[in-house]
Amino acid sequence: MSIDKGLMERSGGVCELCSSNENLSAFAVAPKDDEILVCGTCSEQLNDSSKVDANHWRCLNDSMWSVEPAVQVVVYRMLNALKSEGWPQDLLDTMYMEDDVRAWAEEGAEDAAEDKEPTRDSNGTILEGGDAVTIIKDLEVKGAGFTAKRGTVVKNISLTDNPEQIEGRVNGTRIVLLSKFLKKS
Ligand SMILES: [Zn+2]
Repeated sequence: MSIDKGLMERSGGVCELCSSNENLSAFAVAPKDDEILVCGTCSEQLNDSSKVDANHWRCLNDSMWSVEPAVQVVVYRMLNALKSEGWPQDLLDTMYMEDDVRAWAEEGAEDAAEDKEPTRDSNGTILEGGDAVTIIKDLEVKGAGFTAKRGTVVKNISLTDNPEQIEGRVNGTRIVLLSKFLKKS
């Protein structure tokens, strides 16, 4: 990728994250087209989360003060990805961002969460943990030896990793129910 002249001038020809001048390239900050200049090391780790070396990102201690929104977005996302290390959380707490820049930084994270299929009832209504649902069909509960009767209300359901299943308590027993046989109450 060729490097935009404006980007080269703005950055002073060094990585906008760690100030290295090796293997420079432009990195587009999704979901916008705005680019920042990054070195080979930063680029590799930004593009492949399995290569992330937390120690390299100590450089964010300085670059978090960049006035460039696109740089702030990358810093914010990387600090968030690393916050289990402890020190990145301290930097996040002191980092200053305008509201619109923060919204941009968080936009990518939300997209990832939205990839997960929501759990829907028989009408297609999205179910959430804590909802109450009504069973719309007599359901034999295998292994528990009873039938969950049509019309039974199941309160305080829990979602599972499978969007077609929820968990709830029926007749005092915690069971898995198929969401297609439920209606949100
Ligand atoms: Zn770098």
